[in-house]
Amino acid sequence: MANETKACRDIGALLPAAQAACRAFLRECEKEGLPVLITETYRTQERQDYLYAQGRTRAGTIVTWTRKSRHTGRLAWDICKNVKGQEYADAAFFDRCGRIAARLGITWGGRWDTPDRSHFEVTSDWKEKRETEMEKRYETLAEVPSWARELVQEMLTRGCFADPHRLHLSEDMLRTMALTDRLLKAREGRK
Ligand SMILES: [Zn+2]
Repeated sequence: MANETKACRDIGALLPAAQAACRAFLRECEKEGLPVLITETYRTQERQDYLYAQGRTRAGTIVTWTRKSRHTGRLAWDICKNVKGQEYADAAFFDRCGRIAARLGITWGGRWDTPDRSHFEVTSDWKEKRETEMEKRYETLAEVPSWARELVQEMLTRGCFADPHRLHLSEDMLRTMALTDRLLKAREGRK
């Protein structure tokens, strides 16, 4: 039977996307030597209401500002520092966790107008960024940075690309092309 006074700490109770996000987050925190402890994941609406009542219609200090939470949608988790007596005292610890979250596309409550430093959440379409996806690609001439546009324009004119709308050029490729172009021009000049 559900008990609204008890926090669920099971990552498996989150939606698949949030499970993946939470596990990626924990993995990165571990890599950086941050002792993270999950204090809560999924929350029933009964528990959210119970927490909302705290400091309002029930004794205690206010612990939440909303009755609508991503916790009830199985998309959020809370953490603390896994050091006895220092669970919430270390602001730098939460800042570092927040930076890791940002890198992974996870929302950190510490950046909210009413900060909630122990809170992290995602949307149900969260996906882990892969290295290849993180690298920006330019697909059309208009997307190519101005310093390389003239060169790409010339290549388009000369029919170097099979599909002018799918150039799929990375920053590194543009740099290589610009350097090669410089070399060819230098050779021409020497003739
Ligand atoms: Zn939370």
